[in-house]
Amino acid sequence: MLEKLMAFIEHKGMLQEKHPLRYLLWEPTLRCNLECLHCSNECTTENTSRLNELTTEEIKNELSSIAMHYDPKEITFVVTGGEPLMRHDLTEVGAFASSLGYQWSITTNGLLLNKNTIRSLKEAHLGSIAVSLDGIEEHHDKLRNSQGAYRRTVENIRRFLASDNPATLSILCCVSSINVHHLGEFVKELMDIGVRRVRFGPIYGAGRAQGELMLSDEELLKLLVFIREERVRQRNRIDISLSDDGYYGAEFECHVRRNLHYCGAGIEWGAILYDGCVSGSTNISRKYNEGNIRNDSFVDIWENRFDRYRRGRETLFAPYCADCEEWILCEGGGFHLLDQYLNGTQECGYKKIRSAYGR
Ligand code: SF4
Ligand code: SF4
Repeated sequence: MLEKLMAFIEHKGMLQEKHPLRYLLWEPTLRCNLECLHCSNECTTENTSRLNELTTEEIKNELSSIAMHYDPKEITFVVTGGEPLMRHDLTEVGAFASSLGYQWSITTNGLLLNKNTIRSLKEAHLGSIAVSLDGIEEHHDKLRNSQGAYRRTVENIRRFLASDNPATLSILCCVSSINVHHLGEFVKELMDIGVRRVRFGPIYGAGRAQGELMLSDEELLKLLVFIREERVRQRNRIDISLSDDGYYGAEFECHVRRNLHYCGAGIEWGAILYDGCVSGSTNISRKYNEGNIRNDSFVDIWENRFDRYRRGRETLFAPYCADCEEWILCEGGGFHLLDQYLNGTQECGYKKIRSAYGR
């Protein structure tokens, strides 16, 4: 075990040094057809981002430029949002990325997955699709702030699974105080629908995901125990895992997901935001943007900036993590949590679990 940990730490050091781009995230819009109670990007149904969004040509040019410097076959182009299917050029951009050699994937709330969209995503060689579903009907509709959203999303998931679109489908479930006590029931529903993968992610105090929606220490512990046990119990039927949002200590690391916690923001993941800003991920506070592709190329920004992501984490996280004995494995958890720690609006997962155990 010690050898494995040493190899892991060495590997992280090598990645920080070489920063090989493996995931290129793109936030095409902040527009959405929902206004969820827990949206960390505070997306709305208004056209607020539209005027400043990258054009089809701007994003295509950047994809070409990146493909000239790095091997696109080594990079997954991950389209997030807002709701990405609100952009009418989405499949055009995806098909273009695929023609250059990128794998590509989308994260969607699933409401626009009709017969035509499913077909055009197939023609654009979509590799995988993650659909958001936040628990059983009552909880999903409440969190998504939309009566009937669950029924329509499930209908579209069934349609997708029955189609000839070969993209891998998984479910993303945001866990809050509203749905945490009914996850067993939810997993059973997913298996009945025919879903083979589900990833749970605790909400983390950004945007509208605040206050009473946040998990208490005990609820977070309940979630981790649930995933650890169900991962083993259901392993031949459905792949259950926790998102890589933070570090939870030896008791849970490697038992709630395949690997030890690792945040690749600015190291293996780079993001282009709706207005061309470049960051380590789409969910990191905009104060950690490193440039804008309207002024400099992504490659230039990726190669010459990002120091605070690669070598400066210790300093950035110091006010919260100083003297923590878990630093070498955790390194502050997910970069997107930094603001919440510094503002005092959230404790890290490791401290919450210890508190739940009364340690
Ligand atoms: S959480 Fe997703 S679906 Fe909900 S408002 Fe935000 S972007 Fe839209
Ligand atoms: S205090 Fe910082 S380094 Fe320690 S477990 Fe929490 S987030 Fe990780």
